[in-house]
Amino acid sequence: MSAVVALPVAFVAEEITPAVMAAPLQIEEVAAVRQWVRDAQSAGARVGFVPTMGALHAGHTSLVDRARRECDRVVVSLFVNPTQFSPNEDYERYPRPLEDDLRRLEAAGADAVLLPAVEAIYPPGDATTVDVGSVAMPWEGASRPTHFRGVATVVTKLFGAVPADRAYFGRKDYQQTVVVRRLVTDLLLPIEIVVCPTVREPDGLAMSSRNAYLSPRERQQALAVPESLEIVERLVTQGERRVEPLRAAALERLDSAEGMEPDYVAFMADGTVEEVEHLTGPTVVAVAARVGRTRLIDNRLLA
Ligand code: AMP
Repeated sequence: MSAVVALPVAFVAEEITPAVMAAPLQIEEVAAVRQWVRDAQSAGARVGFVPTMGALHAGHTSLVDRARRECDRVVVSLFVNPTQFSPNEDYERYPRPLEDDLRRLEAAGADAVLLPAVEAIYPPGDATTVDVGSVAMPWEGASRPTHFRGVATVVTKLFGAVPADRAYFGRKDYQQTVVVRRLVTDLLLPIEIVVCPTVREPDGLAMSSRNAYLSPRERQQALAVPESLEIVERLVTQGERRVEPLRAAALERLDSAEGMEPDYVAFMADGTVEEVEHLTGPTVVAVAARVGRTRLIDNRLLA
């Protein structure tokens, strides 16, 4: 007599199959990436989007990791956006290591990668720009007057091309996150912005695609940037609340590094670009400085 084995009947099919590790689908056309996002969403998937200029490092892949944790599908764009560079900046020599980027994206588990030609993002006759007003004016905006117009314009275009549910940005570019939040609010864009922590090298230098430009000697001098922020944080922990002595201490560390030209040391109420004179709440200290030909930025949140 054979035994009758009862099989479990309560089998619930997963609506969205988990993404398998595979090379990300490469997409060049705006219409194709838009369809890919819409198809995923029609199947019930939540789509996360990570816009980048490529030359990927662990800072970028931390955004992909976060997007993978929070979303069902992840799309990354690699696009060196010409309009956010001024004519004297590094657009032409900006690194474009495509094969390495694709390997990193596969390892990070991105599902799709958008690789648009410049003409796909700036079609013939392109004439529209996005200006976010006062949040683009100080600090980075003062040093790079056309930069945030380029950033705001390309981010708006990319959000049009990639109608994702969430987009992931790094806190490393603090003012950029303020600009992006402003334009999403003002233009009523249906996307949620997620800001992720800065990823650093073991010695404290914030990861950046531009670190590749530094000579070994400049790489050493560059440590003055994160160290100036650490000095500020220590003084705040010890009770200092006045901005002027904090700024002076940061500048002293920056000036002590040979070949370092500080641009600004800014103290802003967190979530804004407004300068404070006294720390009364969460405050961001941000530094920009030039080491040789390379401009570095970094920031830290002070309690
Ligand atoms: P980029 O390719 O430099 O335009 O950067 C693309 C995204 O990665 C932006 O949202 C940056 O803020 C973010 N990002 C760049 N460097 C880091 C880092 N070290 N840690 C976290 N996010 C970063």
